[in-house]
Amino acid sequence: MPAKCYLLSPRGFCSGVARTVNMAEQVLKLYGNVYITEDIIHNKIFMNEMVSRGFVKVTSIDEIPNGATVMFSAHGVSPQTIAKTEKKELTIIDGTCPIVKAIQNEVRNEADHGRKIVIIGNRSHAEIVALIGYANNTEVFVVSNVTDIDLLPDFSKEEVTYFTQTTLDYIKAQEVVGSLKAKVPHIRSSADDNICYATKERQDVVRKVAKFVDLIVVVGSSHSSNAARLREVALSSGVPSAILIDSKNDFNMGILNDVDTMAITSSASTPDAILQDLVNHLKSTADVEIEDFDMSNDNGQQ
Ligand code: SF4
Repeated sequence: MPAKCYLLSPRGFCSGVARTVNMAEQVLKLYGNVYITEDIIHNKIFMNEMVSRGFVKVTSIDEIPNGATVMFSAHGVSPQTIAKTEKKELTIIDGTCPIVKAIQNEVRNEADHGRKIVIIGNRSHAEIVALIGYANNTEVFVVSNVTDIDLLPDFSKEEVTYFTQTTLDYIKAQEVVGSLKAKVPHIRSSADDNICYATKERQDVVRKVAKFVDLIVVVGSSHSSNAARLREVALSSGVPSAILIDSKNDFNMGILNDVDTMAITSSASTPDAILQDLVNHLKSTADVEIEDFDMSNDNGQQ
């Protein structure tokens, strides 16, 4: 009997990434060479292709020749970085996702009002590195789990506002937010969290299938926060096995020996062609039956 393989929806590019990728295509046509200091989206295969077509990777704005063109990533850059580009009279192509941009503006506004900032997220992720810059000279505390909350200083006489990274596991983030609110009851926020719709939707469908499939395959890069979270969400939701692969080349067919049902999804920064490549590879080399699956599909499990 063929293994059942559910192709999950929604998957793949979110609106922010699709916008950045479209801009990159236009920019290459217009300017030929475009400098970047960060991957404009977190996908290795896509970025390698962009570099082969004219993107030039540098480690800092200082390395870019005066008057050249620079593109900012979907994760945004700090105001300090923008100031450097202005000094060098660079043409700026701003690929920052509008959702990220809105959060940056909120951080700046809170900091301008003298409020301290707590960010729940990964300190080294590009989105958070940039966000910290919007707090100007206001103190920013980055926490990633409940244990970190215990290490925060006494804010009882301070005004504080919290934000979250857009790509966290939103169920886990609720725990951290709850713990933060317990420690700092007067803490402000404009929403329970800043985790974006695309992150939540992709996690929801993974949580649903994790209850009845043997394997979940996430197509995406390991340095993509939302890809890594999808695999973690799958495992914490009960699937026996979940793997994160860049492309069909990383897929070991032997894993299918113990699999009756599986699901495939892709992160918000994965081009759909990479996922389709894997699907076509499975169709041509394995005994699988592919079926679309979204949140409206109960698969007889509910
Ligand atoms: S995951 Fe959300 S916040 Fe991040 S780029 Fe996509 S739409 Fe924007």
